[in-house]
Amino acid sequence: MPKPRVLIVEDEADIRELIEYALTREGLEAETAADGTAGLAAVRRRVPDLVLLDLMLPGVDGLEVCRRLKADDATSKVPIIMVTAKGDESDVVLGLGLGADDYVAKPFSPKELVARVQAVLRRSRSATSVNDKQVIDHGPVRIDPNRHKVFVLDDEVPLTATEFRILLYLASRPGRVFSRDQILAFALGPNTIVTDRSVDVHIRAIRKKLGEHRDLVETVRGIGYRFSEEPAVH
Ligand code: CA
Repeated sequence: MPKPRVLIVEDEADIRELIEYALTREGLEAETAADGTAGLAAVRRRVPDLVLLDLMLPGVDGLEVCRRLKADDATSKVPIIMVTAKGDESDVVLGLGLGADDYVAKPFSPKELVARVQAVLRRSRSATSVNDKQVIDHGPVRIDPNRHKVFVLDDEVPLTATEFRILLYLASRPGRVFSRDQILAFALGPNTIVTDRSVDVHIRAIRKKLGEHRDLVETVRGIGYRFSEEPAVH
């Protein structure tokens, strides 16, 4: 298999070089762009396997780059990991809504960054082969989309239809963060009027029903929720 190619869009040279070094050391191929316009041009020249996208860029900013990549059929499937300043939760939520896959907040460790990149690459590879109706086995939890049933070990967990949809949505992409808006849109449909808080209420109910495996549904402060990538060991 050829080396995965990552495009790094980052205006700060030190950070750009740090990321490039960390990725190439782990056997990935890296290309760099110093601003949004150069980043878009690089993607059009040769579509990468993943884009690491700084949000605070001069000129065309990161969110706009994300918007344009997702709006173009040729590039809409390329996974994007946003690189954000600490405390930029509202931009992260916007970016997730635009279709970005994940984010890393500065300052980050190179090790953490590489792990995120590899996780998203893994997910994007498996996403092309996974059937939506496939049973999800995640440690002690089994989610069966065909029968609309969830089991912890062999015990069925009695979820409501909405709770089931939320859990299925999160668990179909372990490790990926979803904003409350994304969860609502998926679980309740786009035409339902609900508040953010109702997601929290559903999540609380799901956790309660998962009992000792409640930690599988993780809170990402200021952003939303994700399903743990590591199956819980109890
Ligand atoms: Ca920047």
